[in-house]
Amino acid sequence: MAGQLLMGNEAVGLGAIHAGVKLVSGYPGTPSTEILETVAKNNEQGRIHVEWSVNEKAALEVAAGASYAGARTMVTMKQVGLNVASDPLMSLAYVGVKGGMVIVAADDPGPISSQTEQDTRHFGEFSKLPVFDPASPEEAYEMVQDAFTYSEKYQTPVLLRPTTRVCHGCAAVTVREEGCLEAGGRKTEGFVKDTKRWVIFPRLSYQNHKKIEARNEALSHEFSSYRFNWIEGAPNVEGEKGVRRGVAAGGISYAYVKESLSGDILLLRVGTPHPFPEDLALEFLKNLDEVLVLEELDPVIERALLQIAGKHHLAVRIRGKLTHDTANAGENSVESVRGDLESFAPETVREEVREAAFQTEDFKRDAPPLPVRPPVLCAGCPHRASFYAVKQAAKGRKAVFSGDIGCYTLGNAAPLDMVDTCLCMGADVTIAQGLYIIEGDALNFAFIGDSTFFASGITGIINAVYNQTDMILVVLDNSTTAMTGHQPHPGTGRTMMGEVVAKVSIEKVLEGIGVGRIVKADPLKLESAIQAVRQVLDERGVRAVIFKSPCIALEKPKTCYQVNEKTCVSCRQCIRELGCPAIVACDGRISIEPSLCYGCGVCGEICKFGAIQEVDHE
Ligand code: SF4
Ligand code: SF4
Repeated sequence: MAGQLLMGNEAVGLGAIHAGVKLVSGYPGTPSTEILETVAKNNEQGRIHVEWSVNEKAALEVAAGASYAGARTMVTMKQVGLNVASDPLMSLAYVGVKGGMVIVAADDPGPISSQTEQDTRHFGEFSKLPVFDPASPEEAYEMVQDAFTYSEKYQTPVLLRPTTRVCHGCAAVTVREEGCLEAGGRKTEGFVKDTKRWVIFPRLSYQNHKKIEARNEALSHEFSSYRFNWIEGAPNVEGEKGVRRGVAAGGISYAYVKESLSGDILLLRVGTPHPFPEDLALEFLKNLDEVLVLEELDPVIERALLQIAGKHHLAVRIRGKLTHDTANAGENSVESVRGDLESFAPETVREEVREAAFQTEDFKRDAPPLPVRPPVLCAGCPHRASFYAVKQAAKGRKAVFSGDIGCYTLGNAAPLDMVDTCLCMGADVTIAQGLYIIEGDALNFAFIGDSTFFASGITGIINAVYNQTDMILVVLDNSTTAMTGHQPHPGTGRTMMGEVVAKVSIEKVLEGIGVGRIVKADPLKLESAIQAVRQVLDERGVRAVIFKSPCIALEKPKTCYQVNEKTCVSCRQCIRELGCPAIVACDGRISIEPSLCYGCGVCGEICKFGAIQEVDHE
């Protein structure tokens, strides 16, 4: 055993390797992305198949196939990715697996970089699958290995749901020595034909449903003595009436409670929110009159405790999100948990924590306010030029701009203001189709990135072509999955295993689907980019503009631009229309910050006075 400083996601990746995983598939999404990347980095001999799949549904199905053949598999995604994978997930819960299968869906309380604050623990209940909920990177390393064991014991996929601070927090984790690596060493039986097992029919679903209910009842008992579910401390007794109080917590909130509490309170820690460890919870509740539940996202533990208290006629008051004693949205923190504990049982909060809190509050009061930094497209990002080109081409026309998930969602910010809708991955095309049906007199634009095109855009485009939609699809192809850290996709010509493969051509896919008119342009050549959009404005049917220019993070800048003070008239058109963060106004003078300028040259094309000129990059 050796100690290593690991990020939670690295701990999950290494834990899976040490558990003998043979296949890891996934789709990038914050806060989960580094899990799969860790497996790829530690797979020098290529014994584990690692792939970024086109989307989460594909990832889960690939892993299911390998798991049917007896291999241990892991699938990684962010919480909204599980929505995409939910179709195979729900059926797989009934069919089951042979090789252990862990589905990691990382939740994003806050949310910091997601469109929802959904709670994957509900998916556990909904799909009837076991859920493991680590409170730290150390636990994540251990739990992923336990999850494989339970998965094989009960022949079911298992969910692991770390949250952002577990995924991205770092800790010293005790890991197995290199020589203990099991990857590839576990014997895989192979696929054994058995249609009664692997072919889902209504009768089989009914039979398996009964088995699943029985299994979950057994698991609830078993989880009551599972090593990451426990009771600690003693009831805190308040006042003359002797009210006995306790706290229940799960996930990172448990770590925050431990950081804040003095210990003289009964504490239930829940590491498996589903099936809920009922025996353990009953033992906890029986000793108490009042319980405060601390958990992120939805009141899952709180509801489970209410249910158990009701079932066993216990006169215990459960407090939490449902009683408005704790926040029902947003991320927890040491400070928020400390505040909740102060209100519930002030004498239990550790003195040092209280003092630290006062110091934090003093510091916050004395510190100057942070500058407002709204999310913005990078300086030189080709998407800015693409949006600008469409905006110029559609000027004076009634137009709706449907956006999608990725860097280009940031096109909604002023001064571009080019994203009127954003729902979920791939919805740009289908939203534009719906808008067209009701408002056919508008130009309906749909913006989609290259990775999103492959992930979930294609079916929507087929739907639009088939159903005779009038719309302009604008593909913003920057040759990578940029927002999550530049992962490869089918259009990049390489895989996560490092293989060079044939690129899937977006243009040819569009042709094959039946998109009649496709024009291509380099968005950084502004005039021709505007002309490319104008060419297709008044045509009918689904037509496409493919703007291709690599993400600035893929290439080093070769040049840089500067404002000539003599010719600049401070009209501010470059700032008003483009919004590149490298262009700054100070004391009425306009300049370009050389450390930020990427040299895309678009501002130079906008300035009517020729005041922006190219210079050598220093
Ligand atoms: S050339 Fe102009 S638009 Fe491009 S990155 Fe530099 S300042 Fe921004
Ligand atoms: S558009 Fe040209 S003239 Fe106007 S402020 Fe910018 S650099 Fe100066």
